[in-house]
Amino acid sequence: MMTLDQLNNASAADFVALLDGTYEHSPWIAERAAAARPFKSLAALKVALARVVREATVDDQLGLIRAHPELAGKAAVAGELTAESTNEQQKAGLTACTPEEFAKLQKLNADYNARFGFPFILAVRGPRGTGFTRQEIIATFERRLRAHPDVERAECLRQIHRIAEIRLNDKFGVKPELGEQLWDWAAALAAHSDTDDFLTCTYATPAHTAVAEQLMAWMRDCGFDEVSRDAVGNVVGVYKGTGDKTLLTGSHYDTVRRAGRFDGRLGIFVPMLVVRELHRQGKRLPFSLEVVGFSEEEGQRFPADFLGSSAVIGGFDPAWLDSKDAAGTTLREAMQAVGLAGTAEAIATCKRDPSRYLGFVEVHIEQGPVLGSLDLPLGIVTSINGSRRYTGEIIGLASHAGTTPMGQRRDAAAGVAELILFTEERAAAVPDVVGTVGMLEVPSGSINVIPGRCGFSLDLRATTDEARDALDADVRAKLDEICQRRGLSFTLQPTLAANAAPSDATWQSRWEAAVTELGLPIHRLPSGAGHDAMKIHELLPQAMLFVRGGNGGISHNPLESVTVDDAELSIQAFARLLDDLTGP
Ligand SMILES: [Zn+2]
Repeated sequence: MMTLDQLNNASAADFVALLDGTYEHSPWIAERAAAARPFKSLAALKVALARVVREATVDDQLGLIRAHPELAGKAAVAGELTAESTNEQQKAGLTACTPEEFAKLQKLNADYNARFGFPFILAVRGPRGTGFTRQEIIATFERRLRAHPDVERAECLRQIHRIAEIRLNDKFGVKPELGEQLWDWAAALAAHSDTDDFLTCTYATPAHTAVAEQLMAWMRDCGFDEVSRDAVGNVVGVYKGTGDKTLLTGSHYDTVRRAGRFDGRLGIFVPMLVVRELHRQGKRLPFSLEVVGFSEEEGQRFPADFLGSSAVIGGFDPAWLDSKDAAGTTLREAMQAVGLAGTAEAIATCKRDPSRYLGFVEVHIEQGPVLGSLDLPLGIVTSINGSRRYTGEIIGLASHAGTTPMGQRRDAAAGVAELILFTEERAAAVPDVVGTVGMLEVPSGSINVIPGRCGFSLDLRATTDEARDALDADVRAKLDEICQRRGLSFTLQPTLAANAAPSDATWQSRWEAAVTELGLPIHRLPSGAGHDAMKIHELLPQAMLFVRGGNGGISHNPLESVTVDDAELSIQAFARLLDDLTGP
């Protein structure tokens, strides 16, 4: 097996030779990375190799992509692949295609090459490392055939890095066993769903209860000293330390509809695995670790969201108990149906006393494309964005599309269109500020009628409340100006206002130290999405760690994915954070 010392101490030529076969027929990558030695870790080597590719010319990148064989293509049939590729295609079962599957792949290969001018690249061993099924490979092929060429080139490069990662793991004899356990837990939990087709786990359903019970069982197996479900349905595991204080961590186990497997749950599994390892080694920390699987964060079933973390900070509004889901069931009834008291008094017992706690940390999948585009497995969250949301409508005049001259129209949809473009431009002008019109509707519109009304939503977010409010003021002023000028009127209802939750500087620097110790570069980024940490922020200092998502960082979608290697790194980072807190 290869070692880092060997690579770090080899001549440049030997370094390239040792990494032969990592990047298909492309020794230039190792040649350019050699100067970046010594590497502190295997993860650091992977990041350095990816960086060479990211900083190479487009021609070099295309050359790398074109150095790869087609999946089940002519070269594979003729036995002309490298040993690595032969092994991978064989393991993915591509050598055992039915005649129909083989014909389908040939057609996809031809269509793909005609559209993009390079072969389709997929790390067939996938995020788990054990391989996609042929059906999954074909489905991915079909989906990516529709992508924009630039997006697809970037995706091919990410797949090439994943192929290289697995090849390096094989060379080093490394198996990310903790990451694999996390992945398998995520898969097992995803079997509990409100619906048969996709993963949906909303508050206080039978699937939701089954997930809670499974988490509790696993926590006991891991060696937690106390495992319980609190009055709002949070799953709570405590691993006792030798001191009085407790570090709080965790994330949510409910999901959106048609969800991914890692959103929320990853942040419960990571500290569970850290506890499992501590327990196996018979180690106790000088503080207790309390892992909370928050029962509700996504606001899918009832109007209120963050039910779990709201209860923990004492911010659960008892009026929510009377709110109803789409079927008319009150929150109180839903809680009682799963064995919870559903009373304000019971829920009040969930409130934590901040003086007992050191702080709150949360690990979460990024849910965006930033880390993936930088080829970085982990990122440090600087702040959870503050937001303002509205629903609104512009009202004009519905008139004949043929007879009304352009200068005499009061087109409501054109007014909203102008607002959308302004919002896009205004948000883009300031770093880490985002603005979105996600809903747009011309009620009973017709092809030959000028839109008389146009409904829209507004979602404005920024890392600070000041930046959010400045964007908000500008967008609303623009709406007013557009309507004045175009002879339109409007309504605008605020539906949500959430303050930004900047990370605590000390806790953020602890994450940074942990990531640095793994040999990885620090990348700081804001969280555009809301998280449980944003609620806990009101009670305790908090900081979050992000884990890169696959498939362009897509989330709230069945395509959401993390690799076992990235999961492993997040577990290692968490363990380092605890180590550093423990002191020498
Ligand atoms: Zn989440």
